[in-house]
Amino acid sequence: MSDCVFCNIVSGQLPAQKVYEDDQLLAFPSIDPKAETHLLVIPKRHIENLNSLTAEDAGLMAHLLLTLPEIATANGLPGFRTITNTGKEGGQEVFHMHFHILGGQTLPGFN
Ligand code: AMP
Repeated sequence: MSDCVFCNIVSGQLPAQKVYEDDQLLAFPSIDPKAETHLLVIPKRHIENLNSLTAEDAGLMAHLLLTLPEIATANGLPGFRTITNTGKEGGQEVFHMHFHILGGQTLPGFN
């Protein structure tokens, strides 16, 4: 999608410092970090958010969830927080599914 900022990162039209890439996934730092380390993991294929997933995405999602902690470990994070905002009510601003990895510091409890 030409008007999607993350699709434009995948295509190379927008710059990003890639910290992980394979045929299905890309990871790069958030442009507006909310923790000492703040990475975003995205599928290369445009999927709006968790609400858009179908059974055909099961393999991709398993791959994403299994790869995400490897990306965190490779970036020096023994512990981290993962968030995926879904829909504007969930705080989603970029409508290309992404998983935030927050770490590099001791994060406050969530409750
Ligand atoms: P969300 O509010 O969950 O949709 O999060 C969007 C994330 O994308 C935020 O962490 C933004 O800082 C980040 N972001 C937006 N544009 C870019 C960009 N061009 N490069 C890297 N991160 C971006």
